[in-house]
Amino acid sequence: MHNFHDKLIEVRDRVQRAAERANRGAETVKILAVSKTQPASRIAEAVSAGQCCFGENYLQEALDKQSQLSDLNIEWHFIGPIQSNKTRAIAESFAWVHSIDRLKIAQRLSEQRPVTMPPLQICIQINIDDEASKSGVRPLELPALAKAVANLPRLQLTGLMAIPLPRADYGEQLAAFQRVADLQQSLQQSLDCALPTLSMGMSGDLEAAIAAGSTLVRIGTDLFGPRVASDS
Ligand SMILES: *Cc1c(COP(=O)(O)O)cnc(C)c1O
Repeated sequence: MHNFHDKLIEVRDRVQRAAERANRGAETVKILAVSKTQPASRIAEAVSAGQCCFGENYLQEALDKQSQLSDLNIEWHFIGPIQSNKTRAIAESFAWVHSIDRLKIAQRLSEQRPVTMPPLQICIQINIDDEASKSGVRPLELPALAKAVANLPRLQLTGLMAIPLPRADYGEQLAAFQRVADLQQSLQQSLDCALPTLSMGMSGDLEAAIAAGSTLVRIGTDLFGPRVASDS
C-alpha cells in the first residue's frame, strides 16, 4: 500500500535530518511533489495530506489535471523540457518554471505571462555533468543567459536547477551538487542580485543536495511510489 500521508512524513523527516546536519532549519527546504503520470485523484489525496506544491513535466497532462483540480489551492511548477509552441499555456498556468535553458523560451514566457498574474518564478537548468543528450545550459554559457533572463520584465529569475547523473556514492553526489552551488555563488556576484533558489535533489539524492545547499527538492517516487513504465 502506498499512502501519501505516510510517505510525506518520511520525506519530511529525511529533509529535516539532512537540514539539521547542514545546520539549517527544515523550513529552508521546500518539498515539491513531482506528480507526473499520477492521476488527479492522487494529487487531491496529497493536498489533503498537507502538500501544496506540485511539479509536472508534460504540459497536456498537467493542464488536464489542473482543470480537474481547479477548486484546490495548488502551486504548480513546470519542470520538463519546453517546446516553443507550448510557452503560452505554461505562462498562463504555472507559478514556477524550473527548466529554462534557452533565451528564446524565456522571452516568449515573459511576453505571454498575463499582467494580471505575479511574475513567473524562473530557475535556469544547468547541464552540470555536460551530458550530450541532457537539457540544461552548459556552465560556460550560464552567465550570459542568466543576465538576459534577469532583465525580462514578467519573469523573476530566482535561481538554478540541476539533475546530476544518478550516482550511488554520497560523496560523488555531494560534489556534483556543490558545483551547482558554486555556480549560484559566482552568478550572484556577477549579477549583483540574490538568487535564493537551488532546485536540486530527488528521491535518491536529496540528502546530498541539502548538504550542498538545496532549497527545493523535487520528489516523485518516494512520495507517490513508482511511476508507470513509459516514463523515467
Ligand atoms: C521525475 C522528476 C523528478 C522526481 O524524480 P524521483 O526520482 O522520482 O524523485 C524530479 N525532477 C525532475 C525534473 C523530474 O523529471
